[in-house]
Amino acid sequence: MNSNDFRALCVQPDCTLHDALQRMDQTARGILLVLWEDGRLARTLTDGDLRRARLQQLGDELTVAALPEQAALTVGEDVAAPAVLALMDAHQIDHVPVVDGAGRPVDLVLRRELSQRIWLSSPHLGDEEAAFVENAFQTNWIAPLGPHVDGFERELAAHVGVGHAAALSSGTAAIHLGLLLLGVQPGDTVFCSSLTFVGSCNPILYCGARPVFIDSEPETWNMSPVALERAFDWARRENRLPRCVIVVNLYGQSADMDALAPICENYGVPILEDAAESLGARYKGRSSGTFGRLAVYSFNGNKIITTSGGGMLVADDPDLVVRARKLATQAREPARHYEHVEVGFNYRMSNVLAGIGRGQLRVLEQRVAQRRQVFDRYRAALADQAQLQWMPEPPGYHSTRWLTCFTLDGPEAALKCDLIMKFLERHAIEARPVWKPMHLQPLFDGAPYFAHRVSVDVSARLFESGICLPSGSNLTPQQQYRVIQLLRRALAMAEDRHALA
Ligand SMILES: *Cc1c(COP(=O)(O)O)cnc(C)c1O
Repeated sequence: MNSNDFRALCVQPDCTLHDALQRMDQTARGILLVLWEDGRLARTLTDGDLRRARLQQLGDELTVAALPEQAALTVGEDVAAPAVLALMDAHQIDHVPVVDGAGRPVDLVLRRELSQRIWLSSPHLGDEEAAFVENAFQTNWIAPLGPHVDGFERELAAHVGVGHAAALSSGTAAIHLGLLLLGVQPGDTVFCSSLTFVGSCNPILYCGARPVFIDSEPETWNMSPVALERAFDWARRENRLPRCVIVVNLYGQSADMDALAPICENYGVPILEDAAESLGARYKGRSSGTFGRLAVYSFNGNKIITTSGGGMLVADDPDLVVRARKLATQAREPARHYEHVEVGFNYRMSNVLAGIGRGQLRVLEQRVAQRRQVFDRYRAALADQAQLQWMPEPPGYHSTRWLTCFTLDGPEAALKCDLIMKFLERHAIEARPVWKPMHLQPLFDGAPYFAHRVSVDVSARLFESGICLPSGSNLTPQQQYRVIQLLRRALAMAEDRHALA
């Protein structure tokens, strides 16, 4: 239903029953919206209402106003899909008009949409996962270690082209161990991209270290080299050079490593690459996650491949990975009895989940192609929408398009994004804002922050004006078509509203 289709549902009280019936026939939604002259909703008119009027032998030339009065059930614009469905169930109805603050209908929600929720990024299994898991059951390897763990580590390392890998319980655990391996101590400084998920930087706090946040650049949405340069300059003057820099590769795209790495090298500071969202991406021909001294992948349920929960720490240096495995298994010393000289963690991946991972790894390249295809379909179908700016992919970058993201231009972008996301939410479509930057989070209140340029806060702007669309590799063309149609209407509505304001 586009904006014209929606307008076609609206009639005035002086419309005759005959005309109403005709309109009902043309629009084929089983419902019309009757508006007062000032645009407020007077009532809804359903197939049933017209049928009853016929049975009561009310003449076709009577107007809608002559029908028995009936208050319309409506919902406000802030309501989410489950609440709309609950209302429909309670009143046994199949459509609910949405009204704005002044009581004017702005939208109509249909029951059949609500039973088919479209997720942002849902798990997508291949054909081999079940066999690997079955094998773990048959061989009784239901342990936190085992042949699938070894296999998954070997296969992932070979796939991305890195020396060694340690399979862990989550990406966050992998970052925590990574920081410890790089020697992060209480009181140390750690630089981190500001535009990211909190899993990138919670581990800084686990270590008792102090985060300093670095802005994004507009070209990649990832860490800004000029902001990083200024942060190092400041840190040198303050005599608190960071122990390491966490460079995040966002939404399936690598950061500009050729610009960032020399800056860090210049100060002798290692990079920990957070490639949780960029497994399968490439940068100048090399896999994302092979640029830092250490790198981390995540297999959380919403990532490009999943083990339902898990992570991987990778490095070329075998000593680092051997030590990661030790720290992840309670830092047990090699002795028959249980001997411990340092703090350890219980961070290993289970053999069952590693079995899922081995199956998922076999379809990784397929998943990358499918996500990129989802992006291509959005871009082609919405090519006429000049106000949409898609997340850029500069030459030399090969993003997985883990999530398809866009931004809107102009001072009203934040308001429009809010309207659009509410609109999609009440139609059971999961869309999200771009990550809220860490320097704006209460958790990190007071942490130093270096913007892309003085008074140009790129990550804050991306957060305010950006939206991530459903992007799963298992999104069907029919589902995507629905998202596109609704997004078109949401965009038009946001424009109208902006014009009215
Ligand atoms: C998902 C994610 C993490 C954390 O990974 P988990 O496996 O969920 O712990 C860290 N950083 C980024 C950028 C992520 O998207």
